[in-house]
Amino acid sequence: MTVIVRFAPSPTGFLHIGGARTALFNWLYARHTGGQFRLRIEDTDRARSTREAVEAIVNGLNWLGLDWDGDIVHQSDWQERHAEAARQMLANGNAYYAYETTAELEAMREKAKAEKRTLRYDGVWRDRDPRDAPPDGKPVIRLKAPRDGTTTIRDHVQGEVAVANEQLDDLIILRADGTPTYNLSVVVDDHDMGITHVIRGDDHFTNAFRQTRIYRALGWEVPDFAHVPLIHGQDGAKLSKRHGALGVEAYRDMGYLPEAMRNYLLRLGWSHGDDEIISTEQAIRWFDLDGLGKSPARFDFVKLANIDGHYIRETPDARLVESILPRLAMNADDPLTARLAAAMPDIKSRAKTLIELADLARFYVAKRPVPLAVNLDRNALDLLTGVAVPLGTAPDWNDHALETLVRHYAESKNQKLGAVAQPLRIALTGSANSPPLFAVMRVLGREESLGRIDDALHPKGV
Ligand code: GLU
Repeated sequence: MTVIVRFAPSPTGFLHIGGARTALFNWLYARHTGGQFRLRIEDTDRARSTREAVEAIVNGLNWLGLDWDGDIVHQSDWQERHAEAARQMLANGNAYYAYETTAELEAMREKAKAEKRTLRYDGVWRDRDPRDAPPDGKPVIRLKAPRDGTTTIRDHVQGEVAVANEQLDDLIILRADGTPTYNLSVVVDDHDMGITHVIRGDDHFTNAFRQTRIYRALGWEVPDFAHVPLIHGQDGAKLSKRHGALGVEAYRDMGYLPEAMRNYLLRLGWSHGDDEIISTEQAIRWFDLDGLGKSPARFDFVKLANIDGHYIRETPDARLVESILPRLAMNADDPLTARLAAAMPDIKSRAKTLIELADLARFYVAKRPVPLAVNLDRNALDLLTGVAVPLGTAPDWNDHALETLVRHYAESKNQKLGAVAQPLRIALTGSANSPPLFAVMRVLGREESLGRIDDALHPKGV
């Protein structure tokens, strides 16, 4: 059997982090099994669905590198087919027209309330003679599902769960205006697309029972289910914006790499021993539905940043340079990109996001005079003036030669290396913290380094 799975978002907002994880699990399962990963946009709620949201979902999946097979299915294109399935159930006696009025439904609700039980449609029209139908009544179509026995779901995460059929009511499958309801559309589309495994958030768990009854009424095979527990915040509460319930593009803008995001999302709800760093290739090799966790995962920005730091260290320098160019307002043909490339080995290990990486890289490409965040006192300026002289005639400009030169100069003045190195660092980088000084000097080159030292010694306009 070829596995066919799908990601079926409703386009009512951005691709949020929970949706991205659902998409990832489906994608991994398809790639692991050599099956297909389909994308279905559930846009039947016309009022709430927007084109922008579809774009955000597509862009989010593209950024995450989750490619789907075949064309995108738009649920709204298939409404007539869904209605036909409802009529098929009518024809085989598994559905019926129901003519209840709003007032009758209201009375049912009141009665349930008075008897302190949850509202269930009482099935008035279930066995009523269709000839009783009011002449101008506009009926809905309801599912005529068994009343006794149980409906059982075999779920890869939740296990086997049974619900007594008397707890489930005859849900509406086709509205009075002829439009299909949500659960009917999902079942028909999943069937028509040949979906073998439904992997989704456990907020749809109760729908799985309703949908199973529709499958049975249509005589169709029920797919396997895997309902994944939702993501919670670090404090265990429902995920809110503050906790990280943001669109995928917000993570891109915060400077996370897509491969780090994939690794982190995978670990949010799926495990492989104690492994934290799992490459996409390993994930494809290992992913299965049995590794899905039963309890809600907690979103943790610190973990995400650590994982991102790992992937930044692993990423080729050239790609990192390219990724930070927009943040430095630079073009790829700017000659200063060579300086960024030379600096990359010294800064990539210090950054947890691309934003941090761009911040670390900024001083290398800053225009002179580089603003100094720290003041140089008289003593520091004297030492800087002094060391500038041998630097000006240094025969070699590499880490080792520069260190030897500065060390000799410090010794000749009876100073520790740091007393000379620190003013140099401030003059060259603008800050008291930087990657190793002599590497910085090498990357900046002789002319730029001497120029920055000169700027620090002779500030203009002060
Ligand atoms: N459209 C639903 C949602 O966005 C998902 C339905 C499903 O996966 O069955 O929550």
